[in-house]
Amino acid sequence: IIEILSNLFRSIIVLTPQDLLPSLYLCLNRLGPSFLGLELGVGETVLMKAVAQATGRQLDKIKAEAQEKGDLGLVAESSRSNQRMMFTPPNLTVVGVFNKLTDIAKMTGNASMNKKIDIIKGLFVACRFSEARYIVRSLGGKLRIGLAEQSVLAALAQAVCLTPPGQEFPPKIVDAGKGQSSESRKAWIEEKAHILKQTYCELPNYDAIIPVILKEGIDELPKRCKLTPGVPLKPMLAHPTRGIGEVMKRFDEAAFTCEYKYDGERAQIHILESGEVHIYSRNQENNTSKYPDIISRIPKVKKPDVVSCIVDAEAVAWDQEKKQIQPFQVLTTRKRKDVDASEIKVQVCVYAFDLLYLNGESLVRQPLSKRRQLLKESFTEKEGEFVFACSIDSDNTDVIAEFLEQSIKDSCEGLMVKTLEKDATYEIAKRSHNWLKLKKDYLEGVGDTLDLVVIGAFLGKGKRTGTYGGFLLACYDEENEEYQSICKIGTGFKDEDLEQHFNFFKEHTLPKSRPYYRVDQSTEPDVWLDAVQVWEVKCADLSLSPVHKAAMGLVDPDKGISLRFPRFLRIRDDKKPEEATSGSQVGS
Ligand code: ATP
Repeated sequence: IIEILSNLFRSIIVLTPQDLLPSLYLCLNRLGPSFLGLELGVGETVLMKAVAQATGRQLDKIKAEAQEKGDLGLVAESSRSNQRMMFTPPNLTVVGVFNKLTDIAKMTGNASMNKKIDIIKGLFVACRFSEARYIVRSLGGKLRIGLAEQSVLAALAQAVCLTPPGQEFPPKIVDAGKGQSSESRKAWIEEKAHILKQTYCELPNYDAIIPVILKEGIDELPKRCKLTPGVPLKPMLAHPTRGIGEVMKRFDEAAFTCEYKYDGERAQIHILESGEVHIYSRNQENNTSKYPDIISRIPKVKKPDVVSCIVDAEAVAWDQEKKQIQPFQVLTTRKRKDVDASEIKVQVCVYAFDLLYLNGESLVRQPLSKRRQLLKESFTEKEGEFVFACSIDSDNTDVIAEFLEQSIKDSCEGLMVKTLEKDATYEIAKRSHNWLKLKKDYLEGVGDTLDLVVIGAFLGKGKRTGTYGGFLLACYDEENEEYQSICKIGTGFKDEDLEQHFNFFKEHTLPKSRPYYRVDQSTEPDVWLDAVQVWEVKCADLSLSPVHKAAMGLVDPDKGISLRFPRFLRIRDDKKPEEATSGSQVGS
């Protein structure tokens, strides 16, 4: 895939370099950097309507066929009308399609749906070959071309290495790798890909990166595209562990700190030079309008010499009267957007644990000890509003065990254990072994709960007759873009849970399995369900399984992994099915 894509990019670089940026976005099924939050806002029903109108077929037929095939793109492709048109519309172009998609995303208001349908119809009649399939899939947000972002970055790096941009046409250098041994060619491309990937981590914005690549080349990226307040970066994530023993073994001689693991929502707080404050979520969504209360307290807690910075923190629900932390569920009742400060019912306290940028300087390559020191020098604490994460720096097992107990008493989930000096840089976008999470409730079980997608249901028996009695769960494999079965689950449900699940899922049943569900015949459910909901599930252990397909090929060539004694904990509304625990996470 990387080879094919890089060759496409090479052609684009030579022939129409202005198409490179939109091509990249089309491959990624995105319209711009995620922090701009540009979304197509085209639901499946609207898309079906557009396909029906453009092809002259009946909506019911389109619906039924889409249900059956599980892919509206294929339906669109096969139902393109054979009617001859008076005027053949001009061929679609990359820029043309991309601009139309952007137009759709920018339309708001009640009347916009019909306009959106008109644009889609316009695109549709101009489609040739398999274009309809991919345009409809793009509009539906499911491109399914087996392309992860890291592969796109690798392909881009390879393309600009081999066919340097900025040459006159016809280009003199089409394959700059010619004459090199395959090892040195590979090492050279990998080195450049590393620069590109690193830059993308710090500044995840192709709008800024591509022009630099086209004009100045990859080597200039670190100088030109840096961490910037106002552009959210992907956060560093932690690796689960089973107990203090494992922490001690992993960190061995290294100095580390233990912090409370607060149960709230990640908040990346950006203070811009202009004085503006932005807050971003774990997934780089702009949460600024959700937290006007946090925004307004920043000037009070920030020291005067802080001009710009990025703070990594957790926003946690806080009971002002009792002066204590409230459970995560309380935070979820808070409005998500355009919150009016005077109407806030759920108060939050910010627990700051890292500083990634300060006054024009990126700190991500500094060790945590330094970042933490600068964080403490840059802010003052204010009870119930902005405080530093509670921590101890100790390698005494008893002291840590006691601190873990205390964290639970203080309404936290457990501890985050982090290296301080050696191997203690901030690893953007990584689930790093330099941060370990130690949650109280799974000390004896597996290291973490899993977030799994419901893909099927089993009809209930006895007391559960008339509802679903059990479900088939799957993890999501990014590489293959497929859902791999991991276990059946029937415990952990209260009666009202089962009723809620039944009422929800009866609207999402499928006549047959999806082509991208990996399930063994022996575990097929009574009812197939559309992959629309993520559940947090706890289990006692993982085991190799001859029937389940999770992480197949990663741990054993023929066996997958399954969960032992899975229990339902809760629905995770904050995660999309594609954000479920991945096959590789299960494997590691
Ligand atoms: P993950 O974020 O690891 O994919 P998840 O969403 O289920 O999984 P958890 O496993 O509960 O989250 O833990 C990670 C989260 O814990 C972080 O993303 C952050 O929001 C939160 N957190 C709370 N306290 C801290 C802390 N002291 N340091 C770092 N993160 C913390």
